Amino acid sequence: MVGGGQLARMTHEAGIPLGIRFKLLSDTPQDSAAQVVSDVVIGDYRDLDTLRDFARGCDVITFDHEHVPTEHLRALEADGIPVRPGPEALVHAQDKGVMRAKLDAIGVPCPRHRIVADPEDVVRFAAELRGGGHEVPSGKGGGGRRAGGFPVVLKTVRGGYDGKGVWVVETPEEAAEPFRAGVPVLAEEKVDYVRELAACVVRSPHGQAVAYPVVESRQVNGVCDTVIAPAPGLDEALALQAEEMALRIAKELGVVGHLAVELFQTRDGRVLVNELAMRPHNSGHWTQDGAITSQFANHVRAVLDLPLGDPRPRAPWTVMVNVLGGDYPDMYSAYLHCMARDPKLKIHMYGKDVKPGRKVGHVNTYGDDLDDVLERARHAAGYLRGTITE
Ligand code: ADP
Repeated sequence: MVGGGQLARMTHEAGIPLGIRFKLLSDTPQDSAAQVVSDVVIGDYRDLDTLRDFARGCDVITFDHEHVPTEHLRALEADGIPVRPGPEALVHAQDKGVMRAKLDAIGVPCPRHRIVADPEDVVRFAAELRGGGHEVPSGKGGGGRRAGGFPVVLKTVRGGYDGKGVWVVETPEEAAEPFRAGVPVLAEEKVDYVRELAACVVRSPHGQAVAYPVVESRQVNGVCDTVIAPAPGLDEALALQAEEMALRIAKELGVVGHLAVELFQTRDGRVLVNELAMRPHNSGHWTQDGAITSQFANHVRAVLDLPLGDPRPRAPWTVMVNVLGGDYPDMYSAYLHCMARDPKLKIHMYGKDVKPGRKVGHVNTYGDDLDDVLERARHAAGYLRGTITE
């Protein structure tokens, strides 16, 4: 696996019962997965020679992030190394422009969007959104007052994560910032959504695929905070539509492994695709303790082309809450309280240094009553972080 973060750490864990020899390419020996994997190469995934040396002797290569340059992945494939997911699939998770174009082509509903050339073009896009392409008052910024069609969401097509690389711009003046990185910029309508959902599926090279129940994903400051499985109160027909959409995307894009399709549920009862991730994903962490087969186990099975495991839930409700670094450098001292309070609680810490706001772990818990499960998960995550003290 290329990338030494927590996703690699948990994928490695899922491979242990299968006796899989897991080799890791990690930036530093301190990375979350590098701390626990015995066969680690320290190196830069952006360097093709490093990747080639690493890949020698591997039966298959997979990833904990989508940042390996697409052309390097093509070079590995040309060397005869199975890359899963392959570059022709993965490019859709690397480049939001490519992703939007493909989803349009296969008829998957997305927010209205187009690539924009410069801040003036953003103003034109906003006018198009407003409908009819009216003239928009330009030049006189009006001291930052909103122009027609704003706010607009701007995204750099590559390199964003956890909300970095995404701007909600309220005025034409604010539209300048995203262009400073020198990367193409995608403009999108700001969707008036009621909540964010995720539809996660896993697909094998054989074409076998499984779908996890659609979950609700709550973000705080652009970072995933809570995941509820299944999404409470979700209309059955809409859930089915989201699952089918994710399965179809996996098939049409040739995805191998875990695919998370991040969705907006709109006020008028539709689902629109926001993002794709082709690797284990934060919205699937609940499956470690809440599903018959976890996303990590199924990702491993898929990349090895083994039959996939049952994705169904083990309990009526499972809740995952991320543990972000807080003021307590020693989170482990909170174990006594958390474990004693909730015997069903499952703690997953990543071995990372605690820095404020950084994802350092998550908790899962489950049960029959959603309010109770939510309270237990939130309490544990807050106590570990230090925001709840009793
Ligand atoms: P990242 O690549 O950082 O995960 P996303 O594209 O998922 O970026 O966007 C991050 C967050 O910004 C989303 O979770 C959502 O809350 C908000 N967002 C993104 N696109 C839109 C949109 N078109 N309309 C409204 N909100 C959006």
